[in-house]
This record gives sequence, structure tokens and C-alpha cells, in this order.
Amino acid sequence: MASLIKPSTAFSTGFLTKELQEGCGVARISYCRSSRRRQSYAKATVAPLQKKYVDEGDYVKAGGQELSFVQMQALKPMDQPKIADKLTAFTDDKVLDLAVIGCGPAGLALASEAARRGLSVVLVGPDMPFTNNYGVWQDEFDALGLESCIEHTWKDTAMYFTDNDCLLLGRAYGRVGRDRLREELLRRCQEANVLYHCSEVEDISRVDKNSGSTLACASGKSIKCRLATFASGAASGKFLKYEALEERGMSVQTAYGIEVEVEKHPYDPNVMVFMDYRDYKAESGEGEVPSFLYVMPFSETRVFFEETCLAARPVMSFNTLKDRLYTRLNKLGVKVVHMYEEEWSYIPVGATLPDTNQQHLAFGAAASMVHPATGYSVVRSLSEAPTYAAAIAAALQPRKASPGYLQLQRDSISAALEAWNVLWPNERKRQRAFFFFGLELLLQLDVQSMRTFFQTFFKLPERMWKGFLAADLSSAELIWFALLTFLVAPNTLRMQLVKHLIKDPSGANLIKFYTQLWP
Ligand SMILES: Cc1cc2nc3c(=O)[nH]c(=O)nc-3n(C[C@H](O)[C@H](O)[C@H](O)COP(=O)(O)OP(=O)(O)OC[C@H]3O[C@@H](n4cnc5c(N)ncnc54)[C@H](O)[C@@H]3O)c2cc1C
Repeated sequence: MASLIKPSTAFSTGFLTKELQEGCGVARISYCRSSRRRQSYAKATVAPLQKKYVDEGDYVKAGGQELSFVQMQALKPMDQPKIADKLTAFTDDKVLDLAVIGCGPAGLALASEAARRGLSVVLVGPDMPFTNNYGVWQDEFDALGLESCIEHTWKDTAMYFTDNDCLLLGRAYGRVGRDRLREELLRRCQEANVLYHCSEVEDISRVDKNSGSTLACASGKSIKCRLATFASGAASGKFLKYEALEERGMSVQTAYGIEVEVEKHPYDPNVMVFMDYRDYKAESGEGEVPSFLYVMPFSETRVFFEETCLAARPVMSFNTLKDRLYTRLNKLGVKVVHMYEEEWSYIPVGATLPDTNQQHLAFGAAASMVHPATGYSVVRSLSEAPTYAAAIAAALQPRKASPGYLQLQRDSISAALEAWNVLWPNERKRQRAFFFFGLELLLQLDVQSMRTFFQTFFKLPERMWKGFLAADLSSAELIWFALLTFLVAPNTLRMQLVKHLIKDPSGANLIKFYTQLWP
């Protein structure tokens, strides 16, 4: 197709490092399209060296040096129904209102919400299961009407700073049943008549004002749509434009987890441990990048332990995290007797904003909706899907021209710009600059300063720390958040905050966003 943009080809000489040009050892999954039965995904096969990334940032977002672990996580065998068994296949050639590319939580949520609003919607993507274990604040999932998707609840959540300093947050936490969440989101898609095409998207044409764009699928099918939204995960640089990454590179949250049967463990099965920041070994080494333990105790003997590096640049490797986890368990006297599952959690937290003037839309991690200071995005994607879908539907509505009430078909380009403004208005950009400032601060803290930071953070009024974690404090409230943090913090942290604001580029960026983008 002559009209298709090929940014990856454009970049494939000169810009990419040799390793990137050779394909970074990237696995390509071959998808079984014929079977209509409920089946295990264990048969997904891996053939190396096929996919390329548009730049270094995209490569790091996809997994970088940790790519093989990221792929192991994505290819875990699961017993979940096939999407093709639930949704009607899209077989004809008609132009649809919206194509949603990617069948993760963000894609499924957006597709169902858009179809519920009367748009003709096709979901396009490999028919893959949900393999990640999501943890959520119970109240936030209840508010989304998704309480039935929570498979285990802890009535309280704890923070450990030292052996004598444990703080109970007074907030219930839940583990999402990945199969339940996927089933519920698929049910909503089915109910709203979302169509499905099982294929990776390889390319997309430029938007034609009147006829929209055309997706080129690996299956050989072309799909025409008025608008396309990429919900294809963080590494979507092949299709979307992003602001340039700072020279210091991308920061990533990594965590290595194990769900195990143990002889005994020291945690209360009624309390989820959000962060255990006690030393993982006899004493933390000078200058070490901090990590903490995240614990979901299901019973006296069954437990999920995850050694987590909140953010690091360069990335903290899974091997380092695994070593730390076992050193810590040894220190706690925990003996593993059976392993149920290993988990490799890789979340790029330092992604730059998408260009909000581009013609194709994005949602979820592809739209940089991951909270820079926490790594969470799923609740935000699920809760913003209705508003964003409504904005897309409104942007595609024919407009009445004033005198003769002639219906004017909206052109796809202005519809896309309208929708981008709803997803990333200036207010959201200001909030994000604040979270980035927070992320850059966290990247500089050693373990003792990290403890001090979180002791201070959880002393703030509940509305403040909850709002920061949920990213629902307004940019004005975030100024209050900063002032209160400064008031509550000990002098050491105050000095770090001031120095960070003055010296770190994220401080200047924060001031720029707050002054230039103020309404
Ligand atoms: C182990 C683990 C645990 C995590 N835990 C949490 C948590 O507790 N809370 C939280 O908020 N976040 C968590 N995260 C981060 C979270 O997974 C992601 O932020 C979330 O999955 C993003 O959802 P998404 O739908 O935007 O993208 P994804 O879940 O990445 O889905 C993208 C989809 O797009 C498809 N796709 C990619 N390229 C193409 C293409 N070219 N054509 C068609 N389809 C394509 C992929 O196959 C995939 O199905 C975790 C991540 C991991 C790895």
C-alpha cells in the first residue's frame, strides 16, 4: 500500500543502534486463528528477530535488556476464553467509525464504551489472555462496578519502615482475578456489539479527511475506519508520535514476584503489605538503588512476594530483584516449599507525552496514561474509558450548519484533535509535570530517604495521599499537596525538595507547565 506511513523503516538505518537494527532478539508470537474452542494459550510459539522498534525509547518501553522476561510474562499459559469465541468476527469491507487496536484492559474497556454510545467499533489484536496480576484499592474498583472481579480482599494495608515502625493505612486492597476482569470486559464488548479481527496491526495509512484511515493487518486484511485508537501498550512508537525523551533516558519500574507455599511467614493474612522498606539484607549497601517488598498473604502458608524497584534509570534487572528477594526471604526465615507462579513486572514510568496534534488516537499505556510516580494505569484507563468514548462519539457526530440545518459530516482529522484534547487537556499535562517531578525525586533517593519520604507522604491528610496515588488531585490541589508535604517533612527531606526544585530539569519543567499552561 503506497500510502502507508512506515516510520520504522524510515528509522531503520542510521538512527537505530546495531542491536536494534538486528531486531533486539524480539520474539514474535504466532497466533492460532482457526480454533473456536476455549483453550489453553500454552501453544503460542516464539520465533525470534522479527519486530523492530522506532527508537531507543520504544525499545526500552518494550523491555530493553529485560525483553526475554517481559515476553515470558506475556506468554504465560492461561486458561481463558478466546476473544473470537465471544465477539462477532469482522469480515466485510465497510468503513467503521472506530478501530481499537490492542486487546488489553484499556482496549477492551474503550471498545465497549464506544460501541455502547452507538459507534460501529472493531477491536483488532492478537487473541491473547490477561497474564498480569493486578492489585487495586478496593474502593476504586467498587466505584467502577467491578467488585465481582476481585478474587481476594485484605481489609487493611500496611507500610513497614523499620522493625518498630509499621503503619496501617486503613484502606482495603484487592487482587484482581485476571480471568474475571477479562471475562467481564469481554462481556461488555459482546453486549455492545463490538466486532473483532484477530491480527496484529502492521501499519496504518495517513488519515484522509473524508475517508479516515486504513489499517494493514498481519492477517492480510485491510480495515477502514474513521478514527483509529491505539491501545497497544507502552511500546507503540511504530504508530504514534511522542515528545522527545530526555537525554538521561527512560525510567522503569521492575518487580520480580513469586506466588508460593511456605512453611510459615511473618505477615498477617488479613493485611496486605503495600511496601516493606526494611533492609533486605543485614544492612543496605551505600548508594544502592532502593527496592521494597510487596506482599499479598493469602493464608498462613500461601503468599505472593514481590521485590519491587519503584523506579530506576537504568532499569533494575530481574536477576538483581530475584537475588534481593531470596536474600530478604532468608533474612525473614521464610522457606519456600512450592512455587505456584513467577511474575516479571516491567512498567515504563518515564514515558513522554504523546503528541496531541496527531491524527491517530491512543489510550491506556500507549497514551502514556501510566502514573509516573506509581506505575499504575489500569484503574485510570477503566475509569476514563466512558468519558473518552463519549468524546470520540461526540467528535464524530455530524454537525448542524446554522442556516439550513444541513448535516455536515465531521472530518476525521478535526475529530481526532477534539478527542486528544479530552484525553490530555492542559490541566492533565500540568498534573503530569507534577508527577514527573515526583518521579525524578524518587529516582534520587536512597533507602533511608525513601523511608522518610513515605513516612511523610502517609502523614498527609487522606484526601491528599489518596488523590496523589489516584492522580485525581487537580493541579491547584497538587500545589497544596506540595506545601503540606514541605510542612510535614523533616528538614533533611525539605532540603532535598528545594534542591530538586531548583536544580533538576523536572523542577524547571514543572514551573514551565504551571505558568505557561495556566488557563
Ligand atoms: C506483571 C505486571 C503486573 C502489573 N500490575 C499492575 C497493577 O497492579 N496495576 C496497574 O495499574 N498496572 C499494572 N501493570 C502495568 C499494566 O500491565 C499495564 O499498565 C496495563 O496492562 C496496560 O494496559 P493497556 O491495555 O494499556 O496495555 P497492555 O495491557 O500492554 O495491552 C496492549 C495490547 O495490545 C496488543 N498489541 C500490541 N501491539 C499490537 C499491534 N501492533 N497490533 C494489535 N495489537 C497489538 C498486545 O498484544 C496487548 O494485548 C502491571 C504490569 C505487569 C507486566
